[in-house]
Amino acid sequence: MNFFSLTVKELQKIIQEGQISNREIVLNFISRIKEVDKYLNAFITVFDEEQILRQVSNQESKKLSSAAMFLIPIAIKDNICMKNIRTTCGSKILENYYPPYNATVIELLESAGAIFVGKTNMDEFAMGSSTETSYFGPTKNPYDLTRIPGGSSGGSAVAVASGECPVALGSDTGGSIRQPAALCGVVGVKPTYGRVSRYGLVAFASSLDQIGVFARTVYDAATVLEIICRYDPRDSTSVNIPPEKYTVELDKCDDTDVKGLKIGLPKEYFISGIQEEVKTEILNSVKLLETYGAKVEEISLPHTEYAVATYYILAPAEASSNLARYDGVKYGFKYKDKNYDSEDSEYSTLVNMYRYTREIGFGAEVKRRIMLGTYSLSSGYYEAYYAKAQNVRYLITQDFINAFSKVDLIISPTTPTTAFKLGEKINNPLQMYLSDIFTIPCNLAGLPGISIPCGYDKNGLPIGLQILAPHFEETKMLKLAHFFEQVRKIRKVKNQFLV
Ligand code: GLN
Repeated sequence: MNFFSLTVKELQKIIQEGQISNREIVLNFISRIKEVDKYLNAFITVFDEEQILRQVSNQESKKLSSAAMFLIPIAIKDNICMKNIRTTCGSKILENYYPPYNATVIELLESAGAIFVGKTNMDEFAMGSSTETSYFGPTKNPYDLTRIPGGSSGGSAVAVASGECPVALGSDTGGSIRQPAALCGVVGVKPTYGRVSRYGLVAFASSLDQIGVFARTVYDAATVLEIICRYDPRDSTSVNIPPEKYTVELDKCDDTDVKGLKIGLPKEYFISGIQEEVKTEILNSVKLLETYGAKVEEISLPHTEYAVATYYILAPAEASSNLARYDGVKYGFKYKDKNYDSEDSEYSTLVNMYRYTREIGFGAEVKRRIMLGTYSLSSGYYEAYYAKAQNVRYLITQDFINAFSKVDLIISPTTPTTAFKLGEKINNPLQMYLSDIFTIPCNLAGLPGISIPCGYDKNGLPIGLQILAPHFEETKMLKLAHFFEQVRKIRKVKNQFLV
């Protein structure tokens, strides 16, 4: 029997019934990954049978059989630390880095019974929108292997979209969960900044980074979210509010949740240049919600046009500072030339050791960001760039606060186009950066956001619909997404790997 096309909810039922051995169910996913990942490259590390069976017996011995994720396989983006498991961030510089500790999200999932199947591919240090900047080669889109899956969490999106596992964790700094979810036809959720602990998430741009979830249904995403959305004193930006039972809320969700719900469509998100089919599908989706009594109105988020520019000042500035720690001493790769011990070695100065380690250890996109960030933080430019961008960030946040005084939720496309071809934008960073035009403002404002499948273009490529909610209103957002999923009825992911 094949289990790989089942949702978490369906797997939970089979596991609870106890008719099939737990080992058989879990190992089914490992053989599935072996079978299809050679075409997709969604994983950097896949756990072997022994590692998996050890986890299974561990979970069985804890007698956690009623825990929400009991024996449910999950894949983890390779920038989330797992104790003694290689965590590369898609970079040569961390190619052999084995963290001595677990991220908080890993501990939470482990206590909820989950089985970790592997670490997923990603753009190097989460910098990218296509998973092409990974040192471990690009991940392919299961809908069309000549196309990108989106990024930076492309590996996690593809693992879920191709049936390598039912759910996965990713991280979203400017859209890295929602954008690949949209391009791979799965659900991707970025919670409110501060809702999920970042302890053990390798930092890219700390004021924007947030861990979130990929799944094939909103319900499955909610199952994982309610485990990881917890206060954590080890992350100083973690917010101390009680955990919520999202799945219980979804079980209660019906037409009455949508009747009278005020939905805003930001006019700045329906710009020229957006693929016609994307626009049409979003507007059709909104019309469908109107038939259930949702009240849709046009709104304005006037500073949207500055969001990408603001992000590309702030994110590289934070990255240049965060990435200073990779110096060949504390973590991972250290360049050694063959004359290392001789007096005329290029290593004769400390600076040379840093220089060569970083020159060889980092890829082109990471170096570009470090240079941009160092420049905008340098004295003389700080006020003109970094400080200015912080001011604009405030205005962008205010736009949302004003909008949410009129509407309950905001709907927009997740991306301006469907998945593009591998190689199409890799040499044109500006074009690449624009793929996140609709996802970035949400990170700047720290809001929760979700992307859910809403249709396909003429090539059969998935289109994602984004819902944004006020801070900490994940429940309201998930309810609308869940409702939409039921009425739009494209629940099953369908591509050449998963039919
Ligand atoms: N694509 C954006 C970037 O390259 C966002 C990445 C992310 O969310 N990690 O910065």
